[in-house]
Amino acid sequence: MAEYDPGNIFARIVRAEVPSERVYEDEEFIAFKDIAPKAPVHILVIPRRQQRTGPAALVDGDADWMGRMVLVATQIAREQGLSERGYRLVMNSGPDAHQEVQHLHLHILGGTSLDSMA
Ligand code: 5GP
Repeated sequence: MAEYDPGNIFARIVRAEVPSERVYEDEEFIAFKDIAPKAPVHILVIPRRQQRTGPAALVDGDADWMGRMVLVATQIAREQGLSERGYRLVMNSGPDAHQEVQHLHLHILGGTSLDSMA
């Protein structure tokens, strides 16, 4: 697996070197609108500090902050009015999943009836 590159686009968004439309931030995470939305609501949640290329780079000690990141995503989904109709949380890992950015991120997708995964 490739090393984490601190020059990746999401690391630059965390450092505000690249603009983004932030919808949430706290000490640990930021969330911003995807530049090429695949649904009416498409938000990315990312950790500020943890240098993980993606889900496959996670280690046992990551359980706490990863859990908090999922909770933050559900809070954002609620704030975006997605709770009643539902939404999808997605993490892509590697080429078969078409992971494009090598900084761990959680997609929140909603605002319409999404394609069935069945
Ligand atoms: P992945 O395919 O890696 O899971 O998802 C990466 C996502 O990041 C894609 O949906 C893509 O549209 C989004 N993205 C890539 N570059 C930028 C950027 O510079 N700004 C924002 N806001 N989103 C980006």
